Amino acid sequence: VDFAAVGSSHIGGNIATNAGGIKVLRYGLTRDWVAGLTVVTGAGEVLKLGGGLVKNATGFDLRHLMIGSEGTLGFVTEATIKLALAPKPLSVLMLAVPTLDAIMKVFAEFRSRLPLTAFEYFSDIALKTVADHAHLSSPLTSSSPHYLVIEIENTDSSIEGEMLAVFEKCVEEGWATDGAIAQSETQAKEFWRFREDISEATAPYSPYKNDVSVKISDVPEFLEKTDSILKKNYPDFTVVWFGHIGDGNMHINILKPANLDREQFLKKCAHANDLLFEVIRDLHGSISAEHGVGLVKKPYLEFTRSPQEIALMKGIKAVFDPDQIMNPGKVFD
Ligand SMILES: Cc1cc2nc3c(=O)[nH]c(=O)nc-3n(C[C@H](O)[C@H](O)[C@H](O)COP(=O)(O)OP(=O)(O)OC[C@H]3O[C@@H](n4cnc5c(N)ncnc54)[C@H](O)[C@@H]3O)c2cc1C
Repeated sequence: VDFAAVGSSHIGGNIATNAGGIKVLRYGLTRDWVAGLTVVTGAGEVLKLGGGLVKNATGFDLRHLMIGSEGTLGFVTEATIKLALAPKPLSVLMLAVPTLDAIMKVFAEFRSRLPLTAFEYFSDIALKTVADHAHLSSPLTSSSPHYLVIEIENTDSSIEGEMLAVFEKCVEEGWATDGAIAQSETQAKEFWRFREDISEATAPYSPYKNDVSVKISDVPEFLEKTDSILKKNYPDFTVVWFGHIGDGNMHINILKPANLDREQFLKKCAHANDLLFEVIRDLHGSISAEHGVGLVKKPYLEFTRSPQEIALMKGIKAVFDPDQIMNPGKVFD
């Protein structure tokens, strides 16, 4: 599990938000690494959950109820975390891709033939914003509307040859127009900066952030529909697209136009949200893939969770936190 908040976050927060990030494709979410938890519930009970057992078929797994509950049920005071083998050396590629449709074709080709550890997407605007902010030059000679950073684990000696063969196929098929393979760790880090520095580079533009997900097979339809809605309704908005496209999770950051005051901007973004979340609802996706619900997404919860599910969640909260003292008003009322 590897996410941009690694330098500022704590394990309790990672567990409470079930953090994901750039390597979910290979390593899953925080949830997949929690072997045991000690929790103090809102009612003051101390629960030891999981206890490091791999197998435990004795009813509900309350550990998983706590993970991702955004601190609404209890405090995590102790966690037992599984370890993984250190990865073999990694290869990092950056590709220029001409169309949204081609992105998933590139993904299918790489995924079926190579041990991917990350498959990240960003748009041309994202690349230019980072390049300006961080004074970086693109390693690619031509520009393109879409870019990918792909990371592959060199699990055996055949990987490098296969990686080149896959890259060549993508170019032959017209799914990629340009590409570069990092020749050193320093260059690999530089490729990653184009993806990882997006939040920092867009921060001066007071972006309105969205973090949504759909099934991987629905990604092309989601991208087409959302792109056309935003272009039609908000032609004056600069939209920075990026995300963990290999697991169906996209971040959509709308930059505030300089001539719009903050209040008007937020009003327009709230309307854009309604249109965007309609698409998400139609595709049975999630209005919050990995950034949680908190207060900001609370009004939109019903786009993803049914009234029955929300009622059950409220019932569960009442059991663990009868006095409503744990993060009151967060996720739902
Ligand atoms: C720049 C940036 C980039 C990010 N990128 C990603 C990303 O790529 N992928 C991703 O998944 N996430 C991402 N995040 C979200 C990030 O994973 C979470 O914000 C982080 O894991 C939360 O940990 P924290 O210590 O900061 O918690 P806080 O922000 O302090 O708290 C988060 C929530 O957890 C609750 N909480 C905190 N500690 C506990 C505890 N001990 N017990 C119970 N509840 C608790 C809080 O009440 C709150 O509801 C990003 C965040 C930032 C700021």
